[in-house]
Amino acid sequence: MKRSDRLLQSLLGDTAFNRRKFLGNACKGIVGATVIGEMAALTLQAQEASTGPTKAVNGGSDTTPIQLKPRDAATERKEEPVPSPLDPNKRVRYAIVGLGALSLNQIMPAFGECKYSKPVALVSGMPDKARKVASQYGIAEKNIYNYQNYDQIKNNPEIDAVYIVLPNGMHEEYTVRAAQAGKHVLCEKPMANNSKEAQRMIDACKKAGKKLMIAYRIQYEPNNRKAMEWVRNKQYGTVKLIDAVNTQNAGDPSQWRLKKALAGGGSLPDIGLYCLNTSRFLLGEEPESVISTIYSTPGDERFREVEETVLFQMRFPSGALVNASTSYGVHESRRYRCHGDKGGWFGLDPAFAYEGLKMELSQALDKSEWRQNPSFGQKNQFTQEIDHMSLCVLGNKDPYTPGEEGLQDHRIMEAIYQSAQEGKPIKLEKIAKLDAFRGTPPKPD
Ligand code: NAD
Repeated sequence: MKRSDRLLQSLLGDTAFNRRKFLGNACKGIVGATVIGEMAALTLQAQEASTGPTKAVNGGSDTTPIQLKPRDAATERKEEPVPSPLDPNKRVRYAIVGLGALSLNQIMPAFGECKYSKPVALVSGMPDKARKVASQYGIAEKNIYNYQNYDQIKNNPEIDAVYIVLPNGMHEEYTVRAAQAGKHVLCEKPMANNSKEAQRMIDACKKAGKKLMIAYRIQYEPNNRKAMEWVRNKQYGTVKLIDAVNTQNAGDPSQWRLKKALAGGGSLPDIGLYCLNTSRFLLGEEPESVISTIYSTPGDERFREVEETVLFQMRFPSGALVNASTSYGVHESRRYRCHGDKGGWFGLDPAFAYEGLKMELSQALDKSEWRQNPSFGQKNQFTQEIDHMSLCVLGNKDPYTPGEEGLQDHRIMEAIYQSAQEGKPIKLEKIAKLDAFRGTPPKPD
């Protein structure tokens, strides 16, 4: 028996090990193990393969939840599982590329809650800011890079992956350079400016044998995942209509989001993308046609280069229809509703915010309409998403939202623009498979 098999057997026990061998999966994660340490990867593999807690291995690699004695009656809501982080020395180590609003306000703080990931390097055009952030998060000054010497990350074995948080028009270049430097890539949405760039990003990561994941945080968030489950298991009948809105009022006309070369488009790729990507995620299907209308207020200097408002409809193979609205010119609203044909609708409002997501459920009950706000937990979406990427690196799995998922959104957005331009519906390639572009689903904590 190989050494890796012996380790896995000792972690899983005989029954689970034999089942795993039988399924032919036992050694799939061994390649990724060399990146971080074989034992860490095997621990995680074992965790995913076994329903019971893992056994202690190698001192600090033990991710077995610490069991606490329950205090409440069995009828009460169960407590969240005790966090069980991986030894910091065995986590996936990230260079954060771009220190703007999202990095500073969301991503860096989110690393504090990560269990399998840690920030070890920064890439920024502003050395003073980078030094300050490095000191705040315990990052060594020698691991600060700028956009010119970025390629030198190749010679830094302390970096396993990069998280690209730059304007959309820079995603391709910094993904390709990272892949060429031998690093895995987690890239912010939208993946790029267009499908050609997205395809080149996929090709570069494939060629380098590195993972590429697009940071679609909604697909890792528990309330959105519950809505997806209800759509898929027809909890309230067949969902025939999804109504989705994502709007905000853009300020500063000079910001990169309003420049075509850096943003790729206006409200559609930035926030309309949430309506598009989330409805594809909820249904698991791919649209077969789209139709759209685009409008920008004449003379509004914010919309000289990119569009203000996009209304688009998508038709899916099951007959489900999505009606989506996005705008950079009206007050913030971020919600969706899934309308089932068996006495209920459900959705989230807010649906796409960083926090405070709220489920809404409306059901027919005798002579009344019963409104509820069930909650399926509030988790840091960035933590969930970053740790998913790390588990994929550690266990050598395909991310749930790989580059192909981002590429598909670009193809659909291009059809949406074409539809508005030509004033007619645009047909898309027919894709029958469910979750056609998604990889390994995320595991709950
Ligand atoms: P931002 O403007 O706050 O930050 C962009 C960073 O890129 C800054 O540090 C800036 O200095 C740097 N940069 C380098 N070259 C630049 C150039 N030529 N022009 C402008 N900036 C340049 O933007 P952000 O809000 O942090 O967005 C970054 C990325 O994250 C975008 O792709 C955006 O779509 C995405 N994003 C995702 C979410 C989400 O919820 N997942 C939320 C916000 C932003």
